[in-house]
Amino acid sequence: MSTFFEDYYKHVAEREALGIPPLALSEKQAEELVALLQDIPAGKGEELLDLLTNRINPGVDPAAHVKANFLVGVVKGANSCEVITKADAVKLLGTMVGGFNLQGLIDVVASEDAELAPLAADALKNMVLAVNCFDEVNALADGGNATAKEIVASWANAEWFTNAEDIPAEIKTIIYKVDGETNTDDFSPAKFAFTRADIPLHSTCMGGSLFPEGPETIAKLKEQDLPISFVGDVVGTGSSRKSACNSLLWHIGDDIPFIPNKRRGGVIIGGIIAPIFFNTAEDSGALPVQTDVSGLSTGQIITVKPLEGKILAEDGSEITSFEVKPNTILDEYRAGGRVPLIIGKQLTEKARGVLGLSSIEESGLFVNPDNPAPAAGQGYSLAQKMVGNACGVEGILPGTACLPKMTTVGSQDTTGPMTASEMTELACLKFNADLVMQSFCHTAAYPKPTDVNTHATLPDYISNRGGVSLAPGDGVIHSWLNRLLVPDTVGTGGDSHTRFPLGISFPAGSGLVAFAAALGVMPLDMPESVLVRFKGDLQPGVTLRDVVNMIPYQAIQEGHLTVAKQGKVNIFSGRVLEIEGLPELKVEQAFELTDAAAERSAAAATIKLNREPIEEYLNSNITLMEAMIAGGYKDPDTLRKRIADVKDWMANGELMEADSNAEYAAIIEIDLNAMTEPIVACPNDPDDVKKISDVAGNSIEEVFIGSCMTNIGHFRAAATVLEGEGQVEPRLWVCPPTKMDAEQLTKEGYYSKFSAAGARLEMPGCSLCMGNQARVKDNATVFSTSTRNFNNRLGDGAQVYLGSAELAAAVALIGRIPTPKEYQDIVTPKLEGKDDAIYQYLNFHLLEDGLTV
Ligand code: SF4
Repeated sequence: MSTFFEDYYKHVAEREALGIPPLALSEKQAEELVALLQDIPAGKGEELLDLLTNRINPGVDPAAHVKANFLVGVVKGANSCEVITKADAVKLLGTMVGGFNLQGLIDVVASEDAELAPLAADALKNMVLAVNCFDEVNALADGGNATAKEIVASWANAEWFTNAEDIPAEIKTIIYKVDGETNTDDFSPAKFAFTRADIPLHSTCMGGSLFPEGPETIAKLKEQDLPISFVGDVVGTGSSRKSACNSLLWHIGDDIPFIPNKRRGGVIIGGIIAPIFFNTAEDSGALPVQTDVSGLSTGQIITVKPLEGKILAEDGSEITSFEVKPNTILDEYRAGGRVPLIIGKQLTEKARGVLGLSSIEESGLFVNPDNPAPAAGQGYSLAQKMVGNACGVEGILPGTACLPKMTTVGSQDTTGPMTASEMTELACLKFNADLVMQSFCHTAAYPKPTDVNTHATLPDYISNRGGVSLAPGDGVIHSWLNRLLVPDTVGTGGDSHTRFPLGISFPAGSGLVAFAAALGVMPLDMPESVLVRFKGDLQPGVTLRDVVNMIPYQAIQEGHLTVAKQGKVNIFSGRVLEIEGLPELKVEQAFELTDAAAERSAAAATIKLNREPIEEYLNSNITLMEAMIAGGYKDPDTLRKRIADVKDWMANGELMEADSNAEYAAIIEIDLNAMTEPIVACPNDPDDVKKISDVAGNSIEEVFIGSCMTNIGHFRAAATVLEGEGQVEPRLWVCPPTKMDAEQLTKEGYYSKFSAAGARLEMPGCSLCMGNQARVKDNATVFSTSTRNFNNRLGDGAQVYLGSAELAAAVALIGRIPTPKEYQDIVTPKLEGKDDAIYQYLNFHLLEDGLTV
């Protein structure tokens, strides 16, 4: 006796109590459902049909496989169902977006059944993911199948787009506003990261401690029967969290027909909208608008005129105006998002190609991107050349909408399940990006039950599609991904710190990361660049972490950056931060600089390095990849190909360089000779940088040495400073970024030094940096080497200083921030003359005992 209904009603009741809809049906539930549909209990037909129609995920979800097989069986007469005719079954296949439904629809087209073939055609004409079966439909058309011909013609004329509802001339909406800055952690708090894949559940914690009343207020505002617009001064800074956009759209967007628990649409208005958040909103079918928000407040009813770029008050007067930017955004909105628009355009391009029609640009069907034309003798920056190379041209100018090839894509575990679900929706069974890597660094140390499930299922999901999966405990995404790179290539990652030290990475939300992995390209509006050029030499006791902090420090002096959020100035926001003047850095060191581009809200970063450290790093990386293959890491073919590509680059590749006449939005020169003391970022803003002489004496209760900002040299340096001083007063946390670092530090005796200092040694990974696992005490004052100190990230109410590992060790010893003299007195005698032993990086190819991973 099936307990399907009993179990399901119980689940529905539990979710109802939380004010959210039930989860989409699992594969097992879908199997039970289709069994019941073939032997319907009395009075349950409608309900079962509704579940089949609306509560199963589309694409290549395992439950979609069950649904598609069942419906194909109905079409073919192999399955019988009282409430679904053959025609209904074809129509239902047509609602499944693309993936496991496609073959069934093509078979119907091929059958030329007078009743069913037109229904399948209607579905395929409006399904952009039919791009995956273009060749099969076109072959039928070539063979004389009239319906297939009709479908190809429809694709060529972009009926999937022209049939979609036009952009409304006016959107009457009511405002919910959050003053100041709302970062992605406010929309999607890290401590609830384990619920991110469950959009309705995760949305219940939207607001965090910044606007906890948000969901309730929005629900109240909705009683006025108008759509809600979210408004903020600065919106979406911080991590590249698709979950942030998902939560917001759950509250302000519209249901998507036939797709459970997802919403799209909605207007997001910001004084500044962080670039990744802007793109994620575009991809999700929302309308992001950047304009002056000072005249907007919660509860106000406004009319947004998307075509005219105006926002009007209820009395018709103009409150503010905005530029419709990028100029393709209204097409994106009409198509249901940037991603469906791009895929649909690929479909139309293919169809126009086989029919010998004019190009998609000449067709007039879409707004063409307003791309700048290169001038004679055009100069390009390093970033512009790298992206150009990935697009098959010499360079890409700022403002160009392009689709660069994605050579390397990274995914981490808190966004991994969402990324996987987006890949499933994109019907991805094989990655087109050369190398996709999945890490488990955010959840490995203290997993929740949902994390344990992710650890068990996600590795196979990734490696079955040709990706490379790490294991829990291996370490931080970037410390691994950087070692799998090919110089001068382009990539992305679902973690905002995906900032390659070789080549360039444009981090993105999980939707775009899934797109890049699945299709091997990624839409990009090429940003302008800001050049930061260093000169002079590092002064005694000043470290690379201080150099990181010198960038905002200098920018503040020059008026390119302000700390205050209202009317904030940030020259780096949305631009590429390009760094020159430190070409001899090792690649691990270079990453400390590019990684921190995330804190500048930069879209990406490049750093000019000499060939020698790059080759040393690549040789080390080849050894690592070979050890991964020997250690059973999957997919071995992908790793082999990457080894071959790296070797090929070493044999034939030329390191790219910026042209001397490249243009930048600003050039910031920093004289290393002028900085004689460490610089720290003060609570709680990575931009609020000060010399330690300005904050000396401030007491510190907890110290964290770890995160992707660290490498083995930092731990050796800190342990050497701590050595022989006994247990420290503040709570000291130590977490190396990878298991290889931990192993080497153990072998070299540094773990025993940390232990003698009373340190709590954490499993390699993100640890405190992410704040979703162990956390510092509530309201603690903390010194950390991690990336960012947003409110509540490391602990509730924590006040966090960010600085170097060397300074962290000194702080741990005295329990407060030292004066410059105290710092030099503590650190210099301990580290003097030991540079070669301490700041020696992990060259796996030179390890005497070889490498096993
Ligand atoms: S260490 Fe911190 S910044 Fe780096 S990947 Fe982990 S959570 Fe992100």
